[in-house]
Amino acid sequence: MNATKAYAAQAATTPLAPFNFERRDPGPKDVQIEIMYCGVCHSDIHQVRDEWGGSIYPMVPGHEIVGRVTQVGDQVKKFKAGDIAGVGCFVDSCRTCSNCQAGLEQYCDNGMVATYNGREKVTNQPTYGGYSTQIVVDEQYTLTISPKLALEGVAPLLCAGITTYSPLRHVGVGKGHTVGVLGLGGLGHMAVKFAAAFGAEVTMLSTSRSKEADARKLGAHHFVLTSDAQAMKKVENHFDFILNTVSAQHEYATYLNLLRTNGTMIVVGVPPAPSAVPAFNLIMKRRSIIGSLIGGIKETQEMLDYCAEHNIVSDVEVIRVQDINQAYERMIKGDVRYRFVIDIASLK
Ligand code: NAP
Ligand code: ZN
Ligand code: ZN
Repeated sequence: MNATKAYAAQAATTPLAPFNFERRDPGPKDVQIEIMYCGVCHSDIHQVRDEWGGSIYPMVPGHEIVGRVTQVGDQVKKFKAGDIAGVGCFVDSCRTCSNCQAGLEQYCDNGMVATYNGREKVTNQPTYGGYSTQIVVDEQYTLTISPKLALEGVAPLLCAGITTYSPLRHVGVGKGHTVGVLGLGGLGHMAVKFAAAFGAEVTMLSTSRSKEADARKLGAHHFVLTSDAQAMKKVENHFDFILNTVSAQHEYATYLNLLRTNGTMIVVGVPPAPSAVPAFNLIMKRRSIIGSLIGGIKETQEMLDYCAEHNIVSDVEVIRVQDINQAYERMIKGDVRYRFVIDIASLK
């Protein structure tokens, strides 16, 4: 067994604090990774604080993991010691259902195994995530990372990147489309980068006036302060797509009105409480709402390769693990530019 240092929440109401546990020894198909960076996703906060229900404690969060391979099992083909590897939001799935077979492991009919706050298939032991010094993962659920890009900026691609890339590709966003990105945080800033890279005309829809200059630097062509009624009026019936990344309570109805005929709101943000969807806001312009969960392994690799080719990384603020509780408080206030990433060297 492998002694591992981590930060964990012991309960929904306690701050994260040092925690030690053991990882399994790598099996024949496993890759052991010494973690270098782990991004901080708003889903970490939702789960640490049990805002979605069913949280398992102690909880070691973290599903935006990049590190160096230290050891591989004898059947591993894709990795060797010294390679850079990544792990995203899940570490296993049934591998046999139609979704798994189609490369949509995130929608596994038998339930994917989340990187943390999940349970391992065979042992039923809780999974522990990337706020830790090392992780052991089946190579089939491990991603290849190009050493070309700054690795602290690559880590958030494993969740914030794929969660925005996948639905934008699924609906075919490209030239000639108007896209609104709602919420400029970790997911939002990646959504702006991807939508702009795919050729769409991008509008940032934000509650924070102070983020306008950044939104434009990230690639947004327009900025709308959502509390400005006049500016909102101007973009009524305007967008082909709105990618909704908001983490807190908000009214879908307000933003549905910004969609033109046949427009689609793509929901990726997961506020703890539901929002009402008035029928009129849908029927008057044949609008739709779809949801999307992260992305499968194949598409995650495609996204990572796309980012390496197009020089796309996340804009990050690197923090020490000891500052994680403060980082959570800043994220809740919308004060993150635009992803906190833990330098795991601070844990050693
Ligand atoms: P984040 O970095 O904290 O960003 C959320 C942004 O939402 C904030 O920066 C803020 O942007 C906006 N916002 C916050 N409170 C708001 C409010 N009351 N009304 C309107 N806008 C508000 O969070 P994240 O890591 O990007 O995650 C966003 C959400 O996506 C979370 O709920 C997370 O759990 C979820 N998520 C889903 C998936 C998936 O697979 N579907 C994957 C990862 C994360 P402005 O300052 O610009 O308004
Ligand atoms: Zn996430
Ligand atoms: Zn499956």
